[in-house]
Formats: sequence, structure tokens, C-alpha cells
Amino acid sequence: MAQAKGASANKVPEIRTGDTVVVLHGKDAGKRGKVEKVLRNLGSKHKAAGAWRGASSRPLAILISGVNLAKRHQKARPHMSQNTQSMAQQSGIIDKPMPIDVSNVMIVCPRCDRITRVKHERLGSGQSVRVCGHCREQLEASA
Ligand SMILES: [Zn+2]
Repeated sequence: MAQAKGASANKVPEIRTGDTVVVLHGKDAGKRGKVEKVLRNLGSKHKAAGAWRGASSRPLAILISGVNLAKRHQKARPHMSQNTQSMAQQSGIIDKPMPIDVSNVMIVCPRCDRITRVKHERLGSGQSVRVCGHCREQLEASA
């Protein structure tokens, strides 16, 4: 009955790879995309024994495909002429998604197509799932 609530993770929307999100702030505000990668606080080189363990699994930033792209001008370096093949592939201008802070995005419900807050619901099996705050559709990327 008395279920301990999971710390103070409520401020940060729980976002996972494959989720559709919309950007709220910045130059790409209003853009949507799929989460390519979730960057978590994996800590620095200093692994202070569990001092910040509670925060270590929190998503900090995400990469969204096609969003927040940075144009990177890549030049073949003159002094690395041995690797001409790989250099040729990388020269030119490439679009590289830059991480966006999770606080700048909101998840979009795949069913009702609205920006939503993630809610948690417990299934009969006891498993906790993420659901849309509007339509209660499960947000788990099951496809
Ligand atoms: Zn919904």
C-alpha cells in the first residue's frame, strides 16, 4: 500500500529513446523529432562513491534527429593524407544534432498528438508504465 515515491524526479519529464518530443525553447522551438539518444549524467572521471548516485540516472540532455543541428565544416587535414578515404567521407558540411536540455522539450503523445506531461500508471501486473496525461495512452515505445 504505502509505496515510497521515487525521489524528486517529477520536475524532469521522463524521456526515452524513440519518443517523439517537441522543442519548447531555442532556435528550433516548435520542431518535433524522435529522440535518438538520451544523455545521462554518467559522472565525470571522479567516481565519488555514490555521493550523487541519485542523480546519475537522470536524463540531462537528448539528441533529437533533425533538430538543433549544427553545421560543421569539416576539412580534410593536410597532414593526414594517409587516410584519404575516410577523410573524403567526412569533408564538407555535415549536420550534427546537438544535445538539447531535457527541460527544453516536452513529450508528444503519439495518440492524441498533444504535448503532454508524462504520468505513471501501474498495471495490474505491478509494472509501472508511462502514460499520456490527456488520453492515458501508454507512451512506451513498443513498436
Ligand atoms: Zn494522449
